[in-house]
Formats: sequence, structure tokens, C-alpha cells
Amino acid sequence: MDHHLADLRPKGKLSAQKAKETAFDSALKGVITSSRKLENLFLVASGIRNSSMFHPVDIEEILLVHDLAGNMGLGMVVRKCGTMVYKVFIFNQDKESLAFRIPDLFESMGFQEFIVAQITIANLTGRFLDFPQCCVDSFIGHLMQGTDQDMEAHEELRQERRPDPRAYFVERFVPCTVKCKRAIAEGARIIDILDDMDPEIHELYMQLQLRHMEDVRLGRIIKEKKTRDEQLTLKPKKK
Ligand SMILES: [Zn+2]
Repeated sequence: MDHHLADLRPKGKLSAQKAKETAFDSALKGVITSSRKLENLFLVASGIRNSSMFHPVDIEEILLVHDLAGNMGLGMVVRKCGTMVYKVFIFNQDKESLAFRIPDLFESMGFQEFIVAQITIANLTGRFLDFPQCCVDSFIGHLMQGTDQDMEAHEELRQERRPDPRAYFVERFVPCTVKCKRAIAEGARIIDILDDMDPEIHELYMQLQLRHMEDVRLGRIIKEKKTRDEQLTLKPKKK
């Protein structure tokens, strides 16, 4: 299937109540994660953030989120980042034109070109996702030097006595340092809005931040990448 067929244009914003009812419908319990519901859908539909991104586990997840995004008036595009990786981008009207500029990427373009393209896209998606520029620059620095950002973040966090979970404000976001002021400020901003808006969602979001920090501290992202890498190695042809 051509994944561009899933492109969805955003409509208007939803009330927080309507966004909550749709994303947290009881029929979705255990079907998609709290992070998808809260960070990828609810925060964007209610206008707290303008955009979100995730790495889908399978096609079913893409289709489910696609249905929900459509019902919530959100835009969505699915793009490839190499043979094995899909990324799903969700957005409201403020990010529509930027979203449709995100291209697909393939390793077959050649290693150097692949890295250059990755850097261009990292800049584009950093802007699309309103990530702090210092954190985007740090990510790009690792790409250019061929170093592993996730490994460095994992080591740094393990040595930190009093890390601040607010720096891990959405799933998979890695701050430039454990103490990045801009990342912490964004985490704090979301917490404050949710605190006034809805106690249940506020509580769930606090737990999610903690879990994202644990993902980095325990090296879960590194393990996932390793598994993907192993799947990419040459396999003998079956006869
Ligand atoms: Zn930063």
C-alpha cells in the first residue's frame, strides 16, 4: 500500500472535553497506548501542542490512529525513514504546510546522502514539533559525528542524582542535557495547562513523563534500535 494514501488534512480545533471523549473512548482501552491518546492526539486536538510524532509498532496502530485523528479533525501523514522505519506525524492547521514538506527517506540513496537528508529532516521535524533548538542542534551534532545520542543521554541520566522528568515532555524526545531549561519549561507548561483543565489527564501525563525518563535511563530506546538493526542485516536466501 502507498502510505501517502493515508494523508489527512486537518480541520478545526476540538474542545478539550470532546478531545478527551474521543481519545479516551472505553473501546480503545488496551488497544493503543496512553502516550498515543494523550500526547499524540489529545494535546494536539485541544491545541496545547500543534503537532506530534511517533514510531508505529504495526499497520494496525497506524490505521487506528488514522481513524481517531480523522474523528478529531487532526491532520496526519505517514513517512518512511529508511526501509524499516515509518514515522507518523499528527498536526493541526498551524503545522499543515510544514507537515506536507516532510519527505520519505531511503538508505538506497547512498550513505552520505542519507546522512545529509537525515540532517535536513531533523531540522524540519524539530521545527514541525516545536522542539527546543538546543535539543535539535544536539541531535544533529550526533548525526554528523556518527555518535549515539541515546547512549549518551542514557549514560548522563544514570549519573544524575536529581533528574527532572519535565525535560522528557513527550515520548521519544531526548533533551540536549538532563538539565535543559527549555525542555523543562515545555514540560512544565503542559503540566500547568492540564492542571487547570482536567485532573485525570493531568495525573496520567505526570506518569507518562516519568515513564519517558525511565525509557532513557533504562536504555529501552537503545534496545529497540538494536533489534531493528539486527533485522536489517543480510539474511541467506531460502531455496
Ligand atoms: Zn535543549
